[in-house]
Formats: sequence, C-alpha cells, structure tokens
Amino acid sequence: MAEKRDYYEVLGVSKNATAAEIKSAYRKKAKELHPDLNKDDPHAEDKFKEAQEAYSVLSDDNKRKMYDQFGHAGVGGAASAGGAGGYGGYSNFGGMDFDFEDIFGSIFGNAGGGFGGFSNFGGGNRSSRAARGSDILMQMDIDFDDAIYGCEKKFDLDVVEDCDECHGHGGFDREECKTCHGQGTITSQQNTILGSFMSRTTCPDCNGTGRTYKRKCKECNGKGKVKKNKKITINIPAGINTGDRQRISGKGNPGRGGGENGDLYIEFIVGEHEYYTRDNDDIYLEVPLTLTEAILGCKKEIPTIHGNVKLNISAGTNSGDKQRIKGKGINNEYRRHKGDMYVIFKVYTPKRLTREQKSLIEELSKTSLDTIETEEFNDFVEDNK
Ligand SMILES: [Zn+2]
Ligand SMILES: [Zn+2]
Repeated sequence: MAEKRDYYEVLGVSKNATAAEIKSAYRKKAKELHPDLNKDDPHAEDKFKEAQEAYSVLSDDNKRKMYDQFGHAGVGGAASAGGAGGYGGYSNFGGMDFDFEDIFGSIFGNAGGGFGGFSNFGGGNRSSRAARGSDILMQMDIDFDDAIYGCEKKFDLDVVEDCDECHGHGGFDREECKTCHGQGTITSQQNTILGSFMSRTTCPDCNGTGRTYKRKCKECNGKGKVKKNKKITINIPAGINTGDRQRISGKGNPGRGGGENGDLYIEFIVGEHEYYTRDNDDIYLEVPLTLTEAILGCKKEIPTIHGNVKLNISAGTNSGDKQRIKGKGINNEYRRHKGDMYVIFKVYTPKRLTREQKSLIEELSKTSLDTIETEEFNDFVEDNK
C-alpha cells in the first residue's frame, strides 16, 4: 500500500482545526466518498475507510495529540508490520467504532420523499468481526545507571480485559438475539433524494454478535470487559537508550467483538549522568589534569562504568586530547554490542600560586617551552607586522 496520507490532509482541514471543524469536514467527506455513491470508483471503499480512520484519530483528543507528536506511528491503529507503537488511552471502549447510522441518518435522514432506483448498501463494514484493540504508547523515565546496567521496573497499570465472571461474554445463558434474529445486523430502507438505500447497521442489542444473554453479568455490567489494575514487571536490558521501545504484549487497549487487546509499548527516556556522557554505547568522560600532570605525564585512576582503571597519561598532554579505553563502554544486551570509553583531558591552570610556586614558574619561564604550534604562531605574528 502507498504511504499513509496525513490525516489532516485526508479530511482537508488545517492542523489547528477545531473539533467542530473536523466533525463537519468529516461529515462532508463521508457523504462525498460514500461507496454507494461512487460505484464506478474501485477505490471508493478505501477512500471512505481512510476518512473514517482519519476521523477516528482526529476526533479523539488523546489520539490527536499523539498523532501530532508522533505521526502515524503514534496512533498504531494502522498496525504497521514493524509493530511501531500506537496509542489510544482508554477512551475507545467502543468509541472508535464510528457510528455509521448516526452520520448516514443525519445526512440523508431529512431529505425525504425522493425515490430513484435502488441501491443496496453492500459495504456493511461496521461488522461484528473481531477487531484487535489499538496499541498504547507510554513513556518511561529511566536513570542513566539503570539504562546502562539494565534493571527491573515494576508499575501499576489499568488494563481492560475479559471479565472473569462471565469469561468476556457479558452474561449467562446465551440465546439468539431477538432484535436481529442472530444476524448481528439490521437492514433498513432509507429514502433520500438520491434514491432509496438499504442500509445495514450493527444490531444495537447484541452489538453485532447475534447473541444475547438471559442474565446480564453484574460484574462487568454486560460489557464482558472490566478494568483490572495489574502489577507489571519488566526487565529492561542493559544498554537501553532514549527512544528505545519495549513491547508488552496484550496490555494495550481492548479489542472489540472478541478481538484481542492491543499491545503496550514503553518508550524510554534516559536521564543524564553527572560526569559521564553517552554516545550510543560509548561513554565519554572529561578528566581534569593539573599543569604538571599534563606536562610530565602521570598515572591516574579513572572511573569507568565497570569500576576504576589505572591509566598512563603521556607527558605533554593537551586539553582536548582523547584516549580510548577499549571495551569499557556499555555492554549493550539489547543490541549485542560492546562500546568503548573515551577519556577527554582538560588541563586546568591554577589561578593562585604560592610565592614559592610563582618563583619556580618564573624560573621555568626563563627556559623555552616553545612547541611547533607556538613557534608557528610567533612566525605569523612577525609576518603580520
Ligand atoms: Zn462479566
Ligand atoms: Zn442482535
């Protein structure tokens, strides 16, 4: 399939359209794109569905926010093969289920009278078929140390799942729905100026399942689903980084019509460390040197994320010089890769000297400490005269 179109573009509204503008634009589109009125267009149904999908996201404040922030990946409805995170919040307990009857009724309902041909609404896509719930994307802050060493995190989460009492049926003693005679849909004729349509809608009494129950389950009030507070424990592998995601299967939004729950995606935001900075799996550390350490070289204890190591620092080290300590970066379990550590030296010149130190330095200044760089610079100063 082609690249998904921007939802705002699909509905032809601006990014800051109000809820009312979105609704009105959608109504217009639904009317214009309705498959029954576009029988010659083989893509009519796709276009209609595209508008439905756009509306289902943009009409939901939470989803719209996610969409604005993350684009299509943020509102997983499209469930791309990669399984990028989606989002829904708990708002769509059937809410996403766009009410065709409402739209259809309000567009054509008052037209009255006219009759011209017969058109059967064959789409019937608002069906009783099971639909998987949408995915949820949650962000989690995680400490620098937890991210590089891995950790276990526990948190509470409200998950909508099948009611234990009625096993998700919503009631007991099953029987055929009397309203739709087990069909799950109701067909009715609508007369409009454009013609008479047979419209098929989901049976409101059995929600399209074709079944009702003699006794309604009190536990879930007939919904078959209940919100359960779950204790979730996740093992975060060492090396996780900002933007990495972990999937927790089946803890997303509830499906409908017996469809399974979506997934929960946790996206990590890794905090900073006071001394270390991180570049993927490499760790950088600035190490301050005194003037004499830099000039004479030294052996220095350097903290790494795997404990301290002794490092030989060569004579004549300058600020900004970099030294690699191989294999002392992050041992990334997530990507199966081992990083290095880089030490960057910074030479600090003392601002205050004792009288004795000052005379020693003055003694030193009588000798030449010139380097290639200072000599070249001096030449440049001469030439510039
Ligand atoms: Zn129940
Ligand atoms: Zn029914």
